[in-house]
Amino acid sequence: MRALVIHAPKDLRLEEIDMPGPGAGEVLIRMAVGGICGSDLHYYNHGGFGAIRIKEPMILGHEVAGHVAELGAGVDGLAVGDLVAVSPSRPCGTCHYCGIGLRNHCENMRFYGSAMPFPHIQGAFREVLVADATQCVKADGLTAAEAAMAEPLAVCLHATRRAGDLFGKRVLITGSGPIGTLSVLAARAAGAAQVVVTDLMDSALDFATAVGADRTINMATDASDLTEYQTGKGYFDVLYECSGAAPALAAGIAAMRPRGVVMQLGLGGDMTIPMQSLTAKELDLRGSFRFHEEFADAVALMRSGKIDLKPLISHSVTLEDAEKGFVLANDRSQAMKTQIIFAKG
Ligand SMILES: [Zn+2]
Ligand SMILES: [Zn+2]
Repeated sequence: MRALVIHAPKDLRLEEIDMPGPGAGEVLIRMAVGGICGSDLHYYNHGGFGAIRIKEPMILGHEVAGHVAELGAGVDGLAVGDLVAVSPSRPCGTCHYCGIGLRNHCENMRFYGSAMPFPHIQGAFREVLVADATQCVKADGLTAAEAAMAEPLAVCLHATRRAGDLFGKRVLITGSGPIGTLSVLAARAAGAAQVVVTDLMDSALDFATAVGADRTINMATDASDLTEYQTGKGYFDVLYECSGAAPALAAGIAAMRPRGVVMQLGLGGDMTIPMQSLTAKELDLRGSFRFHEEFADAVALMRSGKIDLKPLISHSVTLEDAEKGFVLANDRSQAMKTQIIFAKG
């Protein structure tokens, strides 16, 4: 079977690797779809992000769905042929943070396709994956492409949970990439009354409109449209900062009302924060990182029809053309979410 292995920046290879078998409590999954994430792109473009660099070949990928093909001993609740979304979150279950229910902060996390630890944690862009049955969430009724979106949606659901009660609230989202647009859906599902999205590109903002944003503002051409929200005591109750760009955070904070909540999801490295406004408006600044239990919530929200993210799946490529997919995913003027099709059906 084949896997997509990153060796160095722009050196992505489709390689033959050994075929695994499922052990007790595990299932063998024939991969159907894998979504290319911003972190995969960072490994492809730069060999890493921040201080993290690939030090050995690593299989990319963590947004995946496939069909159960074989059950290990002791697995129940899953059957051969089931479509499953596979959570890349693999906490140890025994460390301090796992013990207090903060599994996304596990000290021994083995998140797929991550070069943070060494040896690196190999990813899930492979034709066959052996996973713990507990990582698999049945996704019948969904397409494999939708099921593979459970991971980024879970990121946004986790942020939404961190943001607190959104019912009837006014929400600003800065950055209309996959996380920003999925945050539109997550905020709506949580009862937000109004959702405004900013970005620097109209093409990206069109996707936010497609999933229900009330208004979009292109900050490259129409930045003055945000100023109406920045007057007086400000306007928004919650900010999802999804761009990782300091100017977006600053403009967003200026549009916040007193006691609002600023959720930082964008990973742009360290940035300057308008601390004086944070103090004077008594804003809460909260980080949000990955997810754990929200993965199953993401699948459930899609299955119930409360969240329809199909408009965000903009491109798909075959495994043989995977590198074309990475080039496409790099082009924000075209792509929202680009997925690799591992197998038909
Ligand atoms: Zn991701
Ligand atoms: Zn742990």
